[in-house]
Amino acid sequence: MSGKVETHEFQAESRQLLQLVVHSIYSNKDVFLRELISNASDALDKLRLESLRDGDLDADTADPHITLETDPEARTLTVRDNGIGMSREEVKGLIGTIAKSGTAEFVRKLKEANANKDAAASADLIGSFGVGFYSSFMVADRVTLVTRRAGEREGTRWESTGEGTYELEALDEAPQGTSVTLHLKPTDTEDHLYDYTDVHRLRQIVRKHSDFIPWPVRTTVERPATDGENTSGERTVETLNSMKALWARPQSEISEDEYKEFYKHVSHDWSDPLETIHTRAEGTFEYQAVLFVPSHAPLDLYQQGGRRGVHLYVRRVFIMDDCTSLLPNYLRFVKGVVDAQDLSLNVSREALQQDRQIQLMHRRLVKKILSTVAALREKDNERYRTFWREFGPAVKEGLLSDTDNRETLLDLASFPSTHHPEEQTSLRDYVSRMKDGQEHVYYLTGESRARLENSPHIEAFRAKGYEVLLLTDPVDEVWVDQIREFDGTPLQSIAKGQVDLDGGAEDKERTEDKQRAEEFEPLLARLRGALSEDVKDVRLSSRLTTSPACVVGDAHDITPNLEKMYRAMGQELPRVKRILELNPDHPLVTRLKDGHAADDTDPALGEIAELLYGMALLAEGGELADPTRFTRLLADRLAAAL
Ligand code: ADP
Repeated sequence: MSGKVETHEFQAESRQLLQLVVHSIYSNKDVFLRELISNASDALDKLRLESLRDGDLDADTADPHITLETDPEARTLTVRDNGIGMSREEVKGLIGTIAKSGTAEFVRKLKEANANKDAAASADLIGSFGVGFYSSFMVADRVTLVTRRAGEREGTRWESTGEGTYELEALDEAPQGTSVTLHLKPTDTEDHLYDYTDVHRLRQIVRKHSDFIPWPVRTTVERPATDGENTSGERTVETLNSMKALWARPQSEISEDEYKEFYKHVSHDWSDPLETIHTRAEGTFEYQAVLFVPSHAPLDLYQQGGRRGVHLYVRRVFIMDDCTSLLPNYLRFVKGVVDAQDLSLNVSREALQQDRQIQLMHRRLVKKILSTVAALREKDNERYRTFWREFGPAVKEGLLSDTDNRETLLDLASFPSTHHPEEQTSLRDYVSRMKDGQEHVYYLTGESRARLENSPHIEAFRAKGYEVLLLTDPVDEVWVDQIREFDGTPLQSIAKGQVDLDGGAEDKERTEDKQRAEEFEPLLARLRGALSEDVKDVRLSSRLTTSPACVVGDAHDITPNLEKMYRAMGQELPRVKRILELNPDHPLVTRLKDGHAADDTDPALGEIAELLYGMALLAEGGELADPTRFTRLLADRLAAAL
């Protein structure tokens, strides 16, 4: 079979992505080597693991290592490992397909950044997307990968120039593991392309970016000949990295740069982390952990199937990446390594979830992460704000799922509010600003801040100087239904139930209200009849100052926004009828009452009721069921009035 070369095309999106990488204005092109060494190191980890689990695996595990081979004349650099390797199908799936969820969006943003010559944004984007192996095309105009999966006989050659296509060839023979050969672009220091066949350069890059890789990264160096007759010097093998597990070293001896490089290795992110947590527990149950909060959310944070979780080691032996049992889903963006002393080396993913030690670590790590963020808020508010902007919506999922830490999470959270046009507030600060007589933390949920701010529901609160939280993340719709109070102060939606803004009202005022209700009752009854298809009640409002009407829900009704979200997810729901509230001080409403009192058979009353209801929907940014009918009724009314 060897020798038959097949040519495959990259998908359109992959091709675009590659073009952008090839012509990347990313200046730190050296990092391609970190990516290739990272992949090689992962492949060695996987080999060790697989041979541990499968005693019959026919694999060579004698001397796991990575080598860098250079050929200055041919201008090639080869990164070789004797790790797990890839089957032909894996090569096609993993190397032949770069497009994953979010590619189109990524390509669009990257084009934009490149067009603006915004190297920082370009770097952030490439990094957050994780182009990994494909970063080779920043420095090479042709890349050849030869691989054989441990335990298999046939190998595979993959080659591409990074343009439209790649070649695949089956090989009868290939060494176990993977070699990636870069046919280097000409050196061009202006374009940040250096001589990657120069051992000094390679040594520098490995020390800087890959020193902690737990496997030897070797290269052959030539010592210059001392006697004039020998043209070639002595060749010796040099190991370029120290191989020290970073998390096992004392914190005081680790530099910030070392943490950063380690982060980039475990996260496949190219930008620096926002926060580093190095922690250990000693005593009956020992572990060491280095955890990182990234500085930006990955594109797939809210999609299924993204890379999740931290790497688990047991006594320095890699057990699994993406270990999801160690952290709750709402902290899925946290990266890093946890090394446990007392776990069994062949613990399975399923067993992990039940494991008491894992549960204990889970609890402690969550506490540690949350207290770190809390401390961040105190000592470096700017960074806290970045954290909350990037990860707040994910963390708020914890308000629902992590009842143990609910109080801590509520304390950590920030929310937009009417107090400030841009800055968010903590609940504690909100409470400290509450007015005399105000008994609730008020909030309104919906699609956007602008809509909420203009919603009629807010009028009376604004008039009273009461602050309202403006909650616009989809998850807000859900947690507000579960959490009834913050530190003893009840939370209350201003678009649900009856609001009583006159907590301290005199008895006299109460009697006046009652009288008014009686006065309006005949009109309200008539409107209830006319609108029975649309609303379950029509009543007077204490929420409104300038608008004639608004629609609200009962205390336990789902909000229109949540209803819309459910429908968007394909869930069928019975129609939720809401309540129409009228402003008894608005001239439209008072005249309507007078008109009704004068002639309660006037057919125009029904049409005006419809208009009122439609206006209330529009005012909160909602949609009309029949806009054509609404406009016709409105036009008729206006014509009659002129
Ligand atoms: P990432 O490393 O971020 O997953 P890459 O594009 O660098 O993305 O690699 C894609 C996948 O290809 C890896 O996840 C791995 O499964 C496989 N791969 C890459 N390099 C190697 C290697 N040297 N040995 C075995 N598998 C590899």
